[in-house]
Amino acid sequence: MIQTDILIIGAGPTGLFTVFEAGLLKLRCHLIDALPQPGGQCSEIYPKKPIYDIPAYPEILAGDLTKNLMEQIKQFEPGFTLGERADTIEKQDDGTFIVTTNKGTKHQAPVVAIAGGLGSFEPRKPIIPNIIDFEDKGVEYMIKEPELYRDKDVVIAGGGDSALDWSIFLTDIAKSVTLIHRRNEFRGALDSVEKVQELKNLGKINLITPAEVKAVLGKEHVTGVVVEETGKEPFIIDTDHFIPLFGLAPKLGPIANWGLEIEKNAIKVNNALDYQTNVEGIYAIGDVNTYPGKLKLILCGFHEATLMCQSAYKRIHPDKKYVMKYTTVGGVDGFDGTRKEAPKAVVKAIQ
Ligand SMILES: Cc1cc2nc3c(=O)[nH]c(=O)nc-3n(C[C@H](O)[C@H](O)[C@H](O)COP(=O)(O)OP(=O)(O)OC[C@H]3O[C@@H](n4cnc5c(N)ncnc54)[C@H](O)[C@@H]3O)c2cc1C
Repeated sequence: MIQTDILIIGAGPTGLFTVFEAGLLKLRCHLIDALPQPGGQCSEIYPKKPIYDIPAYPEILAGDLTKNLMEQIKQFEPGFTLGERADTIEKQDDGTFIVTTNKGTKHQAPVVAIAGGLGSFEPRKPIIPNIIDFEDKGVEYMIKEPELYRDKDVVIAGGGDSALDWSIFLTDIAKSVTLIHRRNEFRGALDSVEKVQELKNLGKINLITPAEVKAVLGKEHVTGVVVEETGKEPFIIDTDHFIPLFGLAPKLGPIANWGLEIEKNAIKVNNALDYQTNVEGIYAIGDVNTYPGKLKLILCGFHEATLMCQSAYKRIHPDKKYVMKYTTVGGVDGFDGTRKEAPKAVVKAIQ
């Protein structure tokens, strides 16, 4: 059982910044995310797009914002359960919550902060009747650990950036890489398309278009796929892995059944106070919540996370009084023993 002070569901910008604000209050955090990497929409949907409305950054790439947030919270040593979806929540007699993921990982905390954004990103699955029988037995819808494919035969399907980029990346790791797409044209970045063509010419990628995988073969594990290429008889490709990368769609998912008040697919919170839901101890911050005047913006998520942590502190330490200090005055004590001192001149000026 993973135990922490604040269990954060969602490692998007809001969830990540919560770790910093909680860290200032000496509260430890653990994050769960259905995606294999942190950053939420910023890393999954638009990592290369510039954002212009993050205060004090005239322009920052969404991917760099995630990188900076990870750097900023490193000192507070957050735990991560990535690639797993938070499925159920149970309140215990001592007031804590146990959250269990779809992979059975259990987490316990006195405070749960739902920072689930638009919901957990679920893979779009191809319509292949028996594919479900091979999930985690050679069929994967996202790549979490590239080493899994070392010296293996791999078939990837899809026409976007993920399919192209992973096909390129895996040529250095896998025994063979086959990329199958139902059209001749790809949707991904032009330089990735050109790189795939180049690797095809070098015999490092087996590119089959226009074609579709129609069946998965195997008993305990995938051993092959049946491919239909336009104008040809169906044929079999022997493979250890079949990875359809058809994109991810967000869904509020299981959180919708946690007994929380929901309005228009978002969780209602008390915005006059602390972003708590109708269940004491469960907060909702960032894109996932709703209240009068709500704006789904990153800076609003940061603000909500800050206020929420103050309330969480009072719940966790009802007998302690917390006096807010500017970081310029109090500095920052990381859990890893690091200390960022407040500059003496600033301290003096404020005193
Ligand atoms: C193309 C685009 C451009 C944008 N441009 C801007 C901009 O310029 N400025 C701006 O301020 N905002 C912008 N936004 C909006 C901004 O990205 C969001 O406001 C922000 O990402 C919200 O952060 P969040 O952490 O609340 O949620 P998200 O970023 O959505 O992260 C939520 C995370 O929670 C996870 N999750 C959800 N449910 C579960 C579960 N049950 N179990 C495990 N994990 C779960 C998801 O997998 C996800 O990773 C843009 C959005 C898009 C799509």
